[in-house]
Amino acid sequence: MENLDLLIDLHKHAKRQGPGGVKETEKAIALAMLDKMKQLKIADIGCGTGASAILLAKQLNAQVTAVDFLPEFIEVLKVNSIKEEVENSIHPLVCSMVDLPFSDEEYDVIWSEGAIYNMGFEHGIKKWCRFLKPGGMLVVSEITWSTNSRPRELQAHWEKEYPEINTASSKIKALEDNGYSPIAYFLLPEHCWLDNYYRPMQRTFGDFLKRNSNSKEAWAIVSAEETEIALYERYKSHYSYGVYIARKLEV
Ligand code: SAH
Repeated sequence: MENLDLLIDLHKHAKRQGPGGVKETEKAIALAMLDKMKQLKIADIGCGTGASAILLAKQLNAQVTAVDFLPEFIEVLKVNSIKEEVENSIHPLVCSMVDLPFSDEEYDVIWSEGAIYNMGFEHGIKKWCRFLKPGGMLVVSEITWSTNSRPRELQAHWEKEYPEINTASSKIKALEDNGYSPIAYFLLPEHCWLDNYYRPMQRTFGDFLKRNSNSKEAWAIVSAEETEIALYERYKSHYSYGVYIARKLEV
């Protein structure tokens, strides 16, 4: 199996494909002051198997376009949205986040949890801005330094993995520089990483390896995940996902 197929196989049965949580998505809905009565049009970009898209459809009077470039994740999202009885409010779309077929000012809200890093935070917030109505809300989570200095090992790891990792103040500045007014920011707590993402993933490693005949490639994926988890456990006071809530300027 190719590496991407293996990654899909590891992640597609999980509830979520990155750190996050129901309470935290609800907190972001509240901080964005989204009107639960108003008909909203929302795009959830990099939605994975639908953790946030389904919650948004349940909690709001919204039509949610759920975008991911992996058809395997979108298939699971379709099944989940039927199970959760929100299939009439969810519009699945297999598409790259860099090439969205949306119209200018089409959406009230753009939502994206743990995904914008795939195109880079600044590139993403610039490129997606035109799809928002003036006054529309951007809610996006992004890996963030929670301290102003950090151990060299950690710095070196993330500079290799994602050089755009930075402090919240610099992410907020990027929003201000690119046509948004920052409204709120909070850091995802530890349980979003450990209880909701890493521990459930670790519990599937045995089956994943068995399914893939204990191949060298499958072991390499498990080992890379274990390294990332160990790094998180060691240095979790220095980074997390920040959730950024910002309004698109009216003029
Ligand atoms: N929002 C989900 C998934 C986060 S993982 C959650 O919180 O559970 C990041 C997601 O981005 C994955 O589902 C991955 O398939 C998707 N992704 C990565 N690159 C992408 C791209 N270029 N276009 C669209 N989706 C992409």
